[in-house]
Amino acid sequence: NEQTPFELIDKNTIEEIYVPRKPFANKGNYGYACLVVGSYGMMGAAVLSARSCLRSGVGKLTCYICKEGYTIMQTAVPEAMCAMFGTTFIKDIDNLKNFDVIGIGPGIGRHLSHKQLLQKVFKNSKGPAVLDADGLNILSSYPALYKSIPQHSILTPHPKEFDRLFGKSENDFERMELALKKAKELSVYIVLKGHHTLIATPEGKGFFNSTGNAGMATAGSGDVLTGIFTGLLAQKYTSLEACILGVYLHGLAGDIAAKKLSKEAMIAGDIIDYLGDAFIQIS
Ligand code: AMP
Ligand code: MG
Repeated sequence: NEQTPFELIDKNTIEEIYVPRKPFANKGNYGYACLVVGSYGMMGAAVLSARSCLRSGVGKLTCYICKEGYTIMQTAVPEAMCAMFGTTFIKDIDNLKNFDVIGIGPGIGRHLSHKQLLQKVFKNSKGPAVLDADGLNILSSYPALYKSIPQHSILTPHPKEFDRLFGKSENDFERMELALKKAKELSVYIVLKGHHTLIATPEGKGFFNSTGNAGMATAGSGDVLTGIFTGLLAQKYTSLEACILGVYLHGLAGDIAAKKLSKEAMIAGDIIDYLGDAFIQIS
């Protein structure tokens, strides 16, 4: 095949995907998301993903967290509802059927019971799910679960998480090739995160993001992206649209943050704070 399977995401691509808010809309029009996030000592990841999910325009959000995270979440993110499962980490979740989309991973830690957690999410997802961080790390311990990932789910590994899932690659190019192969094989979208984030699609295409900067190489940046993808899927963007729009907005918000604050001083929460400016730029 002579045609290159790669495409660069630019402003034109985004204009085609972005759907403006409807004047007579109510929150029911923008979906109900669930984030399975956080544990004792890692509630920051939960808070970041919840805030970014809300800032991406979702109608309603419930966070599935552990009891120890309750006060933190309700205080830091009053817009989110909470359901508690387990004391210091999330155990035995239920009632997943209410949600339009489930995002799982940031800050949940790695526990034996989390195999069941993933199985429940896979079984109860109405459509694609979002898998990140320890959600991916758990998955990598149970390769038998790979085939039950909901079709067109979004997996968001950084290179280390990717290697845990699919084996070690010699270099970035080899890893990208493997991402394209695995996305096809598993019928999922793999967002291989880095300076040039690659979206590998089930059709064997690759999209490179054109926004973002090294100021985003800071703790929590990825958790912000998980919230954005979950929020966009809840709003009925397709997985491909959510991937493209999500990485672009995330990087653009990061670029605005770097301009205002410097690459050094910006932190993950600032990416969320500038998501609004990013939306205004694309609309
Ligand atoms: P994580 O490693 O899960 O926290 O994710 C980091 C996020 O920040 C991903 O979305 C990366 O694409 C982004 N990021 C990290 N380092 C850079 C960089 N040097 N240039 C652009 N984006 C970056
Ligand atoms: Mg991460």
